[in-house]
Amino acid sequence: MRWKEQLLTLTPYQPGKSIEAVKKLFNLDRIVKLASNENPFGCSEHALSALQTNQTSLAIYPDGYATQLRETLAAFLQVDLDELLLGNGSDNLIQIISRALLHPNASTIMATPTFSQYKHNAVIEGAVIREIPLINGDHDLDTMLKAIDETTNVIWVCSPNNPTGTYIQENKLISFLDKVPPHVLVVLDEAYYEYVVAEDYYDSITLTRKYENLIVLRTFSKIYGLAALRVGYGVANRVIIKALEPVREPFNVNSLGQLAASAAIKDQEFVEVCKEKNRQGLAQFYQFCEQYQLEFYPSQTNFILIDFKVDGDEIFQYLQERGYIVRSGKALGFPTAVRITVGSSEQNEGVLKALGEFLAEK
Ligand SMILES: *Cc1c(COP(=O)(O)O)cnc(C)c1O
Repeated sequence: MRWKEQLLTLTPYQPGKSIEAVKKLFNLDRIVKLASNENPFGCSEHALSALQTNQTSLAIYPDGYATQLRETLAAFLQVDLDELLLGNGSDNLIQIISRALLHPNASTIMATPTFSQYKHNAVIEGAVIREIPLINGDHDLDTMLKAIDETTNVIWVCSPNNPTGTYIQENKLISFLDKVPPHVLVVLDEAYYEYVVAEDYYDSITLTRKYENLIVLRTFSKIYGLAALRVGYGVANRVIIKALEPVREPFNVNSLGQLAASAAIKDQEFVEVCKEKNRQGLAQFYQFCEQYQLEFYPSQTNFILIDFKVDGDEIFQYLQERGYIVRSGKALGFPTAVRITVGSSEQNEGVLKALGEFLAEK
């Protein structure tokens, strides 16, 4: 068969070993997973009870327009119904955008290291990829601007950035948006938006009113704790949404996801509580880093990238044997670092204790 040549260069997403397998292998009675930036506090009770009390027939296709979720989100964000694009997770939105705009004669620009799916999808579409290195963990917006030319169709901006946890300040983002030519779609991925506390952070939804080439992506997988149900959304002006809609699969958001997400949006108290606990959790990590004089990026997210100046895989292994699963920085572009999701206070204490022992043994 004549597969797209570029597929030969890709490897499928490598899921870690299953929790059960790790338990057995190292004879552990519990495993704490701090690898995928999931919410250690689960999801809102409202979402759980919506799933229990609503009788969704599994034999019936989902509402392809996701009417209830769309209306709830539109009211919450104060946008119109046709300014929203719903996705099977924001990964699906990245795929839709790539499919709609990227091809072998188009170029696309992104930071590096950043979230892997921008490049992955661009490779599949055969687009020309321009990766602009981060500077001290931050997007180098000036160099990204210089990389734009007539062929550029999409520029990806991840703020706060995964895996560094850093964000773009409002004035910098605005001066960047002012300079991006109108033929380039700016994708602002805000998967960690709800965790941000920085005061000079922008109001991205308001920016979509002013910049007609901007789409903002958010997700229910992170602070809302609904990663299993796969719901994400995009906000942009209706011209962009209208152009993207035909690329979306008709039933891309499942019925349970629609139900849970609509209920979760209405429980902002849960979001606030998680945000606060996350700040306290990050403080535990900061204190540890200062105590051991480790380099890290101050984080606006629910994870932290810490540089241990040893092979990240070695730390991954050490922690795994002790029941903690984190992400080695090796596959993330930071070979001597690990990325750790902020857990509950006890989980953080536990993983930091193990890391302290690792450092003492060194
Ligand atoms: C987790 C994550 C996503 C994907 O989220 P889903 O909605 O679960 O697909 C997108 N972007 C970034 C930066 C992420 O970290």
